[in-house]
Amino acid sequence: MIVAIANQKGGVGKTTTAVNLAAALAIRGRKTLLIDLDPQANSSISFLDHNTIGRSTYDAIAEPDCGLADIIQPSTLPNLFIAPARIGLAKLEARLVGEMDAHFKLKDKIEQLGGEYENIVIDCPPALGLLTVNALVAATYLLVPIQSSYFALEGTDDLLETVEKVRLRPNPGLRILGVVITMHDKRTALARDIRQQIHKVFGGKVFNTVISKNVRLEESPAYKESIFTFAPDSSGASDYYSLCQEVIERVEARTP
Ligand code: ATP
Ligand code: MG
Repeated sequence: MIVAIANQKGGVGKTTTAVNLAAALAIRGRKTLLIDLDPQANSSISFLDHNTIGRSTYDAIAEPDCGLADIIQPSTLPNLFIAPARIGLAKLEARLVGEMDAHFKLKDKIEQLGGEYENIVIDCPPALGLLTVNALVAATYLLVPIQSSYFALEGTDDLLETVEKVRLRPNPGLRILGVVITMHDKRTALARDIRQQIHKVFGGKVFNTVISKNVRLEESPAYKESIFTFAPDSSGASDYYSLCQEVIERVEARTP
Protein backbone atom coordinates (compact mmCIF):
# COMPACT_ATOMS: atom_id res chain seq x y z
CA MET A 1 0.00 0.00 0.00
CA ILE A 2 1.02 3.57 -0.65
CA VAL A 3 -0.65 5.93 1.80
CA ALA A 4 -0.57 9.72 1.49
CA ILE A 5 -1.03 11.65 4.75
CA ALA A 6 -2.63 14.93 3.71
CA ASN A 7 -4.62 17.89 4.96
CA GLN A 8 -3.85 21.38 3.71
CA LYS A 9 -4.48 22.79 7.15
CA GLY A 10 -1.17 23.31 8.94
CA GLY A 11 -0.16 21.74 12.23
CA VAL A 12 -2.88 19.09 12.41
CA GLY A 13 -0.59 16.10 13.03
CA LYS A 14 0.31 14.98 9.49
CA THR A 15 4.01 14.56 10.23
CA THR A 16 3.49 12.99 13.66
CA THR A 17 1.08 10.52 12.05
CA ALA A 18 3.33 9.79 9.05
CA VAL A 19 6.41 9.21 11.24
CA ASN A 20 4.72 7.01 13.82
CA LEU A 21 2.52 5.06 11.41
CA ALA A 22 5.59 4.31 9.29
CA ALA A 23 7.51 3.28 12.43
CA ALA A 24 4.67 1.03 13.62
CA LEU A 25 4.51 -0.70 10.23
CA ALA A 26 8.30 -1.22 10.32
CA ILE A 27 8.16 -2.59 13.88
CA ARG A 28 5.54 -5.06 12.71
CA GLY A 29 8.15 -6.38 10.30
CA ARG A 30 7.10 -4.65 7.10
CA LYS A 31 9.79 -3.00 5.01
CA THR A 32 8.55 0.58 4.98
CA LEU A 33 9.57 3.75 3.16
CA LEU A 34 8.68 7.19 4.53
CA ILE A 35 8.73 9.78 1.74
CA ASP A 36 9.00 13.39 2.93
CA LEU A 37 7.27 15.72 0.47
CA ASP A 38 7.25 18.74 2.75
CA PRO A 39 9.94 21.42 2.22
CA GLN A 40 9.88 21.94 6.02
CA ALA A 41 11.47 18.44 6.19
CA ASN A 42 9.98 17.72 9.60
CA SER A 43 9.59 14.00 9.09
CA SER A 44 13.14 13.69 7.71
CA ILE A 45 14.54 15.54 10.71
CA SER A 46 12.54 13.25 13.01
CA PHE A 47 15.02 10.50 12.09
CA LEU A 48 18.04 12.07 10.36
CA ASP A 49 20.53 14.84 11.03
CA HIS A 50 20.25 17.91 8.79
CA ASN A 51 23.84 17.58 7.64
CA THR A 52 23.39 14.02 6.37
CA ILE A 53 20.73 15.08 3.91
CA GLY A 54 22.32 15.67 0.53
CA ARG A 55 20.15 14.87 -2.41
CA SER A 56 16.47 14.92 -1.51
CA THR A 57 13.00 14.24 -2.84
CA TYR A 58 13.47 17.43 -4.91
CA ASP A 59 16.21 15.74 -6.93
CA ALA A 60 14.35 12.43 -7.11
CA ILE A 61 11.27 14.17 -8.52
CA ALA A 62 12.86 16.85 -10.70
CA GLU A 63 15.96 15.13 -12.10
CA PRO A 64 15.40 12.42 -14.70
CA ASP A 65 18.68 10.71 -13.77
CA CYS A 66 18.03 10.65 -10.00
CA GLY A 67 15.80 7.95 -8.58
CA LEU A 68 14.36 7.48 -5.10
CA ALA A 69 16.91 4.69 -4.59
CA ASP A 70 19.66 7.34 -4.91
CA ILE A 71 18.34 9.40 -1.98
CA ILE A 72 16.88 6.82 0.43
CA GLN A 73 18.62 6.48 3.80
CA PRO A 74 18.15 3.94 6.59
CA SER A 75 16.59 5.24 9.81
CA THR A 76 17.37 4.32 13.40
CA LEU A 77 14.74 1.55 13.12
CA PRO A 78 15.34 -1.64 11.15
CA ASN A 79 12.85 -1.93 8.25
CA LEU A 80 12.26 1.84 8.13
CA PHE A 81 13.82 3.89 5.35
CA ILE A 82 13.54 7.62 4.65
CA ALA A 83 13.41 9.56 1.39
CA PRO A 84 14.31 12.94 2.92
CA ALA A 85 13.24 16.44 1.94
CA ARG A 86 15.07 19.75 1.93
CA ILE A 87 13.87 23.31 1.86
CA GLY A 88 14.68 23.51 -1.88
CA LEU A 89 11.66 21.29 -2.50
CA ALA A 90 9.61 24.48 -2.31
CA LYS A 91 11.01 25.42 -5.74
CA LEU A 92 9.70 22.25 -7.38
CA GLU A 93 6.55 23.85 -8.75
CA ALA A 94 8.53 26.56 -10.56
CA ARG A 95 11.00 23.97 -11.83
CA LEU A 96 8.32 21.74 -13.35
CA VAL A 97 6.25 24.49 -14.98
CA GLY A 98 5.29 23.45 -18.48
CA GLU A 99 6.16 19.77 -18.03
CA MET A 100 3.24 17.69 -19.26
CA ASP A 101 3.78 14.95 -16.71
CA ALA A 102 4.44 17.20 -13.68
CA HIS A 103 1.72 15.43 -11.65
CA PHE A 104 3.09 11.95 -12.42
CA LYS A 105 6.72 12.44 -11.40
CA LEU A 106 6.50 10.80 -7.97
CA LYS A 107 4.34 7.93 -9.25
CA ASP A 108 6.92 7.15 -11.95
CA LYS A 109 9.80 7.25 -9.46
CA ILE A 110 7.96 4.97 -7.02
CA GLU A 111 7.30 2.52 -9.85
CA GLN A 112 11.05 2.41 -10.53
CA LEU A 113 11.54 0.98 -7.02
CA GLY A 114 9.63 -2.14 -8.06
CA GLY A 115 8.06 -3.90 -5.10
CA GLU A 116 10.99 -3.28 -2.78
CA TYR A 117 8.93 -1.63 -0.04
CA GLU A 118 5.83 -3.34 1.24
CA ASN A 119 4.48 -0.06 2.60
CA ILE A 120 5.11 3.53 1.55
CA VAL A 121 3.94 6.44 3.70
CA ILE A 122 4.04 9.95 2.18
CA ASP A 123 4.09 13.04 4.42
CA CYS A 124 2.52 15.97 2.53
CA PRO A 125 3.00 19.73 3.03
CA PRO A 126 0.13 21.90 4.33
CA ALA A 127 -1.05 22.93 0.86
CA LEU A 128 -2.96 21.46 -2.07
CA GLY A 129 -0.27 22.29 -4.63
CA LEU A 130 1.81 20.16 -6.97
CA LEU A 131 3.51 18.20 -4.18
CA THR A 132 0.28 17.00 -2.57
CA VAL A 133 -1.19 16.24 -6.00
CA ASN A 134 1.91 14.16 -6.83
CA ALA A 135 1.30 12.22 -3.61
CA LEU A 136 -2.39 11.68 -4.42
CA VAL A 137 -1.59 10.53 -7.96
CA ALA A 138 0.97 8.02 -6.64
CA ALA A 139 -1.02 6.76 -3.65
CA THR A 140 -3.45 3.88 -3.26
CA TYR A 141 -4.89 5.46 -0.10
CA LEU A 142 -5.35 8.83 1.54
CA LEU A 143 -5.31 9.19 5.31
CA VAL A 144 -6.51 12.54 6.67
CA PRO A 145 -5.47 13.67 10.16
CA ILE A 146 -7.96 16.13 11.62
CA GLN A 147 -7.02 18.07 14.72
CA SER A 148 -9.56 18.04 17.49
CA SER A 149 -10.03 21.83 17.50
CA TYR A 150 -12.74 24.37 16.85
CA PHE A 151 -11.62 24.89 13.22
CA ALA A 152 -11.12 21.16 12.63
CA LEU A 153 -13.19 20.85 9.48
CA GLU A 154 -11.94 24.02 7.84
CA GLY A 155 -10.55 23.20 4.41
CA THR A 156 -11.56 19.53 4.29
CA ASP A 157 -14.06 20.35 1.49
CA ASP A 158 -11.21 21.57 -0.71
CA LEU A 159 -9.20 18.45 0.07
CA LEU A 160 -12.11 16.18 -0.87
CA GLU A 161 -12.67 18.17 -4.07
CA THR A 162 -9.02 17.67 -5.01
CA VAL A 163 -9.38 13.93 -4.29
CA GLU A 164 -12.41 13.78 -6.62
CA LYS A 165 -10.44 15.52 -9.39
CA VAL A 166 -7.52 13.14 -9.00
CA ARG A 167 -9.91 10.17 -9.10
CA LEU A 168 -11.58 11.43 -12.25
CA ARG A 169 -8.50 10.96 -14.38
CA PRO A 170 -4.97 10.37 -13.15
CA ASN A 171 -5.74 7.95 -10.28
CA PRO A 172 -9.22 6.36 -10.28
CA GLY A 173 -7.96 3.78 -7.76
CA LEU A 174 -7.38 6.34 -4.99
CA ARG A 175 -9.42 5.51 -1.86
CA ILE A 176 -9.91 7.45 1.33
CA LEU A 177 -8.59 5.03 3.92
CA GLY A 178 -9.83 7.12 6.80
CA VAL A 179 -9.87 10.18 8.95
CA VAL A 180 -7.98 10.18 12.24
CA ILE A 181 -8.72 12.62 15.03
CA THR A 182 -5.49 13.96 16.53
CA MET A 183 -4.45 15.94 19.62
CA HIS A 184 -7.69 15.02 21.31
CA ASP A 185 -8.33 16.01 24.91
CA LYS A 186 -11.17 13.81 26.07
CA ARG A 187 -11.66 15.80 29.27
CA THR A 188 -13.16 18.80 27.51
CA ALA A 189 -16.77 19.12 26.38
CA LEU A 190 -15.58 21.08 23.33
CA ALA A 191 -13.40 18.15 22.20
CA ARG A 192 -16.39 15.79 22.56
CA ASP A 193 -18.55 18.14 20.45
CA ILE A 194 -15.87 18.38 17.78
CA ARG A 195 -15.53 14.60 17.68
CA GLN A 196 -19.27 14.27 17.12
CA GLN A 197 -19.13 16.89 14.39
CA ILE A 198 -16.29 15.05 12.60
CA HIS A 199 -18.31 11.81 12.83
CA LYS A 200 -21.35 13.56 11.35
CA VAL A 201 -19.35 14.65 8.30
CA PHE A 202 -17.17 11.56 7.76
CA GLY A 203 -19.25 8.74 9.33
CA GLY A 204 -17.61 5.32 9.03
CA LYS A 205 -14.47 6.85 7.54
CA VAL A 206 -13.40 8.00 11.01
CA PHE A 207 -10.98 5.57 12.62
CA ASN A 208 -12.07 4.19 16.02
CA THR A 209 -8.60 5.04 17.25
CA VAL A 210 -8.35 8.62 18.47
CA ILE A 211 -4.89 10.11 19.03
CA SER A 212 -4.87 11.85 22.40
CA LYS A 213 -2.74 14.82 23.29
CA ASN A 214 0.56 13.49 24.57
CA VAL A 215 3.66 15.56 25.17
CA ARG A 216 5.87 12.52 24.45
CA LEU A 217 4.80 12.75 20.80
CA GLU A 218 6.17 16.30 20.67
CA GLU A 219 9.44 15.32 22.31
CA SER A 220 10.44 12.19 20.38
CA PRO A 221 11.58 13.91 17.11
CA ALA A 222 14.26 15.85 19.03
CA TYR A 223 15.80 12.47 19.94
CA LYS A 224 15.55 11.18 16.34
CA GLU A 225 13.25 8.42 17.52
CA SER A 226 9.70 7.31 16.90
CA ILE A 227 7.36 7.19 19.88
CA PHE A 228 7.79 3.39 20.10
CA THR A 229 11.42 3.46 21.19
CA PHE A 230 11.35 6.90 22.85
CA ALA A 231 8.36 6.31 25.14
CA PRO A 232 6.97 2.80 24.58
CA ASP A 233 4.62 3.05 27.57
CA SER A 234 3.11 6.40 26.59
CA SER A 235 -0.46 6.91 25.40
CA GLY A 236 1.05 8.19 22.13
CA ALA A 237 2.70 4.81 21.52
CA SER A 238 -0.46 2.83 22.22
CA ASP A 239 -2.63 5.23 20.15
CA TYR A 240 -0.36 5.02 17.09
CA TYR A 241 0.05 1.25 17.45
CA SER A 242 -3.71 0.89 17.48
CA LEU A 243 -4.06 3.22 14.46
CA CYS A 244 -1.55 1.04 12.60
CA GLN A 245 -3.61 -2.06 13.46
CA GLU A 246 -6.77 -0.41 12.08
CA VAL A 247 -4.93 0.74 8.94
CA ILE A 248 -3.75 -2.83 8.28
CA GLU A 249 -7.27 -4.20 8.88
CA ARG A 250 -8.87 -1.68 6.52
CA VAL A 251 -6.31 -2.35 3.78
CA GLU A 252 -6.66 -6.13 4.15
CA ALA A 253 -10.46 -5.87 4.02
CA ARG A 254 -10.14 -4.13 0.64
CA THR A 255 -7.44 -6.36 -0.82
CA PRO A 256 -8.81 -9.81 -1.63
P1 ATP B 1 2.52 21.03 9.10
O1 ATP B 1 1.22 21.35 8.44
O2 ATP B 1 3.30 22.24 9.53
O3 ATP B 1 3.33 20.06 8.30
P2 ATP B 1 1.60 18.80 10.61
O4 ATP B 1 0.19 18.70 10.15
O5 ATP B 1 2.60 17.90 10.02
O6 ATP B 1 2.13 20.30 10.49
P3 ATP B 1 2.68 18.00 13.16
O7 ATP B 1 3.99 18.62 12.87
O8 ATP B 1 2.59 16.54 13.17
O9 ATP B 1 1.56 18.61 12.20
O10 ATP B 1 2.11 18.51 14.57
C1 ATP B 1 2.08 19.90 14.89
C2 ATP B 1 2.63 20.07 16.32
O11 ATP B 1 1.78 19.38 17.24
C3 ATP B 1 4.02 19.48 16.50
O12 ATP B 1 4.73 20.27 17.40
C4 ATP B 1 3.74 18.11 17.10
O13 ATP B 1 4.81 17.64 17.90
C5 ATP B 1 2.51 18.38 17.93
N1 ATP B 1 1.64 17.20 18.05
C6 ATP B 1 1.16 16.42 17.05
N2 ATP B 1 0.37 15.45 17.54
C7 ATP B 1 0.34 15.62 18.88
C8 ATP B 1 -0.32 14.94 19.95
N3 ATP B 1 -1.12 13.89 19.75
N4 ATP B 1 -0.13 15.40 21.22
C9 ATP B 1 0.67 16.47 21.45
N5 ATP B 1 1.30 17.14 20.49
C10 ATP B 1 1.14 16.74 19.21
MG1 MG C 1 4.21 18.31 8.73
